[in-house]
Amino acid sequence: MIAHKRDGKAHHAGDIRRLIDAYMQGHASDAQLSAWAMAVCWRGLDIEETVELTAALIESGDTVELPQLDGLHWVDKHSTGGVGDTTTIALAPLLAALGLGCAKMSGRGLGHTGGTLDKLESIPGFRVELDEREFIETLHDVHCAVVAQGPNLVPADGRLYALRDVTGTVPAPGLIAASVLSKKLAVSTEALVLDVKVGDGAFMKTLPEAQALAKLMVEVAGRYGRRLRCRLTSMEQPLGNSIGNALEVAEAMRVLRGDGPEALTEVVLTLAADLQELALGIDPVQGYERARLTLEDRSALAAAERWIAAQGGDPTVCRSDQRLPQAPFRTLVESPQAGNIERVSALALGEAACSLGAGRRQKGDAIDYSVGLVLQARVGDAVELGDPLCEIHAKDEASARLIMAEVEGAFQIGEESVSATPFLDVIG
Ligand code: URA
Ligand code: CA
Repeated sequence: MIAHKRDGKAHHAGDIRRLIDAYMQGHASDAQLSAWAMAVCWRGLDIEETVELTAALIESGDTVELPQLDGLHWVDKHSTGGVGDTTTIALAPLLAALGLGCAKMSGRGLGHTGGTLDKLESIPGFRVELDEREFIETLHDVHCAVVAQGPNLVPADGRLYALRDVTGTVPAPGLIAASVLSKKLAVSTEALVLDVKVGDGAFMKTLPEAQALAKLMVEVAGRYGRRLRCRLTSMEQPLGNSIGNALEVAEAMRVLRGDGPEALTEVVLTLAADLQELALGIDPVQGYERARLTLEDRSALAAAERWIAAQGGDPTVCRSDQRLPQAPFRTLVESPQAGNIERVSALALGEAACSLGAGRRQKGDAIDYSVGLVLQARVGDAVELGDPLCEIHAKDEASARLIMAEVEGAFQIGEESVSATPFLDVIG
C-alpha cells in the first residue's frame, strides 16, 4: 500500500480499512504508517479514499448515541484551532436556550491555541471528565454539556495524529478531513458547523486551501447523512479580545450578557443561526434575530448558569469575574507610533500568552489559569503614540517584561485603513 500510494495509484476499496486495522492490531508499524501518510501528503486521497479512512478511524473505537429527548435536535460546533476564540463557551448555552441540544466533546489546547477544556477548568469546581451516566444526566437536565472525549472515541485518530504531528504529515486535506470528521461523526449529532481558520496561525494558510478542505469535509459528512456547514474565518487577528483561560471564560460570559466584543459576538450569533437553519429549518435572518434576543433577555445566561452548575462549576462566574482566578500583576503595552492597526498576529500573541503560562509547551504541563492578554486595540483602529495596545496579566513583573517586545511586535501599525470582518467564506 505504501508503494501503491507513492506511485500515485488509488487504493482498492477495503485497503485503507485493512491498513488502519493492521496498525491498531500491531501488524503495521509506526514507521510504515508514517511513510504512508507522507505518500498521501504528496499524492492525496480521493473522495472515496477519504470516506473510507474516516470510516476506518470511527470503527477503531466506540460511537456515542445521544439520548432521544422528545424531539430535541443535537448539534455540534467545532473550530480548527484559534487564538482568543472562546466561541464554544458562549455558544453551547445559547443553543440550549434556543431549544437545541449541544453535546460537545473537546480536546485540550496544545501549542499556541487554547483548548476549551482548559478554559472551563479555570471555573472553580468545573469537571470536564464526566462518566457516561453523568454525561447523559447532564444532557437530560440542561441539554448541553462540554466534556473531554473519552479514550475510546476514535483511538486510531489519536495514534495517527501523534505520528503526523512529528513526521511533517499534518497538512494533507484527506488526512485532516478524516481526522476532524471521524471525531464528530462518531457522535450522533444531526448538524454541525465547522469554523475553519485561515491564516498564519492556522493549519490552512490560504483561502483556496481552506475552501478545498471545506468542500471535501461537506461532501464526506453528506455521505453520512449529516448536515455540515463550514465557516471560513480569518486569523488576521485574535477573534475576541482576551487570550488566556479565565480571561476567555469571563469574555464568553460578557458575550452572554450582551456586552462582548463585536467580532466574537457576531461569530457566536452567526453559528447559532447556522445551526438553527441546519437542524430546524429556521430562516437564517430570523435565526440570528432569535439568538440575539436570547442574549438580550438573559435566557442564554440563565442556561449557562444551569450548565456550569450541572458540571460542578460555580455558576456565579456567569454574572461576575470575582470567583475566577485573577493574575496579580498587570501592565499595559503602549503603541510605539501613531497610525492604523493593519494586522495583529494571532500566532505571536498566542505564543506570548503561552510563555506567560496560559498554555502548554508539552503534553501534561501545568497551566496558570489566571494569566493572559487583553487586546485594547484591534485591526482598523487608529492609535496615537502611547495609546494602549494590550494589557498583560502575569504572575509577576519579570514574566510580563519577558514578553513585552513580542506583544508590541504582534501589532502591525501603518498608514492603511483596514476593515476587519472575521468571515471569509461559507461552504455547505
Ligand atoms: N485537527 C484535527 O483534529 N486533525 C487534524 O488533522 C488537523 C486538525
Ligand atoms: Ca483608537
